[in-house]
Amino acid sequence: MEQSDISDDLTTILVTEQEIRDKLAELARQIETDYAGKDVLLVGVLKGAVMVMADLARELRIPLSMDWMAVSSYGAGTKSSGVVQIRKDLDADLTGRHVLIVEDIIDSGLTLSWLLENFASRGAASIEVCALLRKPEAAKVHVECKYVGFDIPNDFVVGYGLDFDEKYRNLRDVGVLAPHVYA
Ligand code: 5GP
Ligand code: MG
Ligand code: MG
Repeated sequence: MEQSDISDDLTTILVTEQEIRDKLAELARQIETDYAGKDVLLVGVLKGAVMVMADLARELRIPLSMDWMAVSSYGAGTKSSGVVQIRKDLDADLTGRHVLIVEDIIDSGLTLSWLLENFASRGAASIEVCALLRKPEAAKVHVECKYVGFDIPNDFVVGYGLDFDEKYRNLRDVGVLAPHVYA
């Protein structure tokens, strides 16, 4: 049987592995400067942020801790509704912590906006966001994001942690899924 290659299911590659690597290095230098002398807690939002978290954390040369949160958004259809349920909560107590939320992508911004409010109520000393990707045209609410990798068009993308039906997370690049995959 012929082996299929998941990269054949992309129509366009939007961000390459190398571009991601270079960008994360650039963001890491900024983060190192901004958090000098502070103990930062990176909070990754499962599952999409796994790759960004792994690569960003290894770029950083400052002391840090990592924690994870899993949430799901419910609402009509597949779009995020802003009604968020916690599926796995943090292990860490946020009181007095400098929290940096690590996200794969900001689409409507609803999930993140909910998370920011939730974290603020737990007494964090500071809360910032680092997102690899952002879709400015899809924004429903404004979310302050201090560290952004790439602004991309309003297309459904996969790769580098981002899935379609739990697949394609292992693609090294980020790209637009071909229509034949949906059919
Ligand atoms: P938001 O609440 O900002 O609309 O998006 C919440 C989550 O939906 C994101 O963190 C991400 O996991 C997922 N999501 C949003 N846009 C895309 C996309 O283009 N592709 C994939 N695979 N997931 C997305
Ligand atoms: Mg996410
Ligand atoms: Mg998903």
